[in-house]
Amino acid sequence: MNYFLDNPDLVTTFDRVVPWQRIVPLTQGKDANVADTVATWREMLAVAGEYIGTEIAGRAKLVDELGVIRDGGRVETSAPMNANLRGLAELGFVGLSLPEAYGGSGLPFTVSSFGVEMIARACPATMVEFGIGFTEPAAMILRFGTEEQKQRYIPRVVRGELKGAVAMTEPQAGSDVGRLTTTATPRQDGCWILQGRKQFISAGQGDLVIVLARSVGSSGLDGMGMFIADREGDNYVVERAEHKFTIRGSPTCALLFEGTRATPLGKPGDGWKQILTFMNESRLGVGIQGIGVATAAFEKASEYAAQRVQMDKPIREHPMVAEMLLEMETTVTGARALAYTAAVLQDLVLFGHDEQAARDLREITPLVKWYGTEGAVRVCRLALQIHGGVGVVDEYDVGRFMRDSLITPIYEGTSQIQSLMAVKDLMKVTMRRPRSLLGRGPSRLLADASFDGRVGSDFAAARGHIVGVLRSLVLRLVRRKGPGLLRGAPLGDEDLGPILLHAERITEALAHVHVARVLAERARRIPERRRLAERAARTARLVAERNRRAIALDDGSVFARIAAWRSERR
Ligand SMILES: Cc1cc2nc3c(=O)[nH]c(=O)nc-3n(C[C@H](O)[C@H](O)[C@H](O)COP(=O)(O)OP(=O)(O)OC[C@H]3O[C@@H](n4cnc5c(N)ncnc54)[C@H](O)[C@@H]3O)c2cc1C
Repeated sequence: MNYFLDNPDLVTTFDRVVPWQRIVPLTQGKDANVADTVATWREMLAVAGEYIGTEIAGRAKLVDELGVIRDGGRVETSAPMNANLRGLAELGFVGLSLPEAYGGSGLPFTVSSFGVEMIARACPATMVEFGIGFTEPAAMILRFGTEEQKQRYIPRVVRGELKGAVAMTEPQAGSDVGRLTTTATPRQDGCWILQGRKQFISAGQGDLVIVLARSVGSSGLDGMGMFIADREGDNYVVERAEHKFTIRGSPTCALLFEGTRATPLGKPGDGWKQILTFMNESRLGVGIQGIGVATAAFEKASEYAAQRVQMDKPIREHPMVAEMLLEMETTVTGARALAYTAAVLQDLVLFGHDEQAARDLREITPLVKWYGTEGAVRVCRLALQIHGGVGVVDEYDVGRFMRDSLITPIYEGTSQIQSLMAVKDLMKVTMRRPRSLLGRGPSRLLADASFDGRVGSDFAAARGHIVGVLRSLVLRLVRRKGPGLLRGAPLGDEDLGPILLHAERITEALAHVHVARVLAERARRIPERRRLAERAARTARLVAERNRRAIALDDGSVFARIAAWRSERR
């Protein structure tokens, strides 16, 4: 199979949706010929799609079966995984979005996103080894490193000779990264010494690691810095790779730093700011990973439902199964539409320093992650259900898709953390402009959108439910804290209690409404997409209405339970 040419929605996204007239001059220089450049990129994706759809997809089952090789305490990737990574390096895929000056291809983020989605569809474990092992360390060094660090590491990473990792998580510091205790101490000669432990580090068995550590004596998010540590000479220890049921071919390592020599990446003290930039990009990557695995599951389920006959007809002709397939298609297409909208914004921000694009990107990034990954789990679950009994049989692959999908709402910030980010940001904007609650709400992207017909009325109703929820939550807050709140009085987490409780409900509604928006915008140019846009808008309306009712009917039992647990602690 060709994972580019055989995926009509991906091809449509490339051919008819991405605004190449803006992206090409911005990323390749204003003299670049748009048509020729786009034709070259398309050809490259078609060649890669063939390799990924045959070779990498063909090895995915074996990558999963073999898992991680633990050879006399040494952690390694399996032979088929190594073949995948070699193949991607030979295709020039490792340096896709890195500048030509360092051996890369200098392509926009949008183009590399197509590649990432195809790899994730073929083998999500390979996507992690590829993305975290090569792309992310190189991208971080490019963004924050000195010229010497760039020359030293990036060309070798691009050639696939060096593999890295990015280590933030520690046993006591997961979602709450501020609790990390790994320390960095400067030495006279400019070298820094790391002391501490990291856990759950993807591709941690590689040749170098970028470590988030704090200067001795600092606390919270201040005083953090990024450091590069080479593994050479047992400079740090790969203690183990976890035994796990998801992305089994990608080692998830525990690392020990005891007197590890490291060099700062950027200014020590800027670590938190740097990591946030990095996480925004990688959250888009994980959202796209979700789309990849969901595409694989949807494809399998569609094939199976067409050929499996029960009660005298293919099961896809039974209305409940047909509806499952339709839901899967809407989810995958909607997630893709939102993710590639974000990818384009990312290029406008990275290459054009466009501030409005940066604000829009900040608004939709947690939604791409939330919808792409929660959507992937739902789609894989439906694919398994459509397979009936054979769904749990290894040969049929859908069990592997299900297992692999389950990691996506966890790493790079869980779904709950995405929800907190989305809703806290929305509340900030709301409190700055409370009058927006009398109209179409605080989100510019949603407030400016308007569509004709059934899509338009469902979209407007869904947006109205979200504005209604915000209005009632703000009123509750004002009653408790007084009207000073509307003039900018600061809000703590305790004040935000009810909003934080319902953050995921609000995020779910927001994600569906944004998906309905981008699909409706697309349907204006591609009329054959209208039915799907109508379905997405109808779903958004139902989800927003259901969640608004759930929030309104909140009986306080969650806070009563928290109060009881707190008193147990005292
Ligand atoms: C396979 C795998 C690969 C990984 N790769 C990397 C990597 O390469 N580099 C790296 O640094 N890390 C990596 N991680 C770590 C990953 O990012 C963390 O596991 C993740 O951020 C969650 O942290 P945690 O596991 O400590 O869970 P916790 O933070 O303990 O969360 C547990 C639960 O509590 C919820 N929760 C926590 N705080 C709140 C809150 N304030 N409000 C509501 N709910 C909350 C969470 O949503 C979750 O459901 C990886 C993890 C895995 C499993």
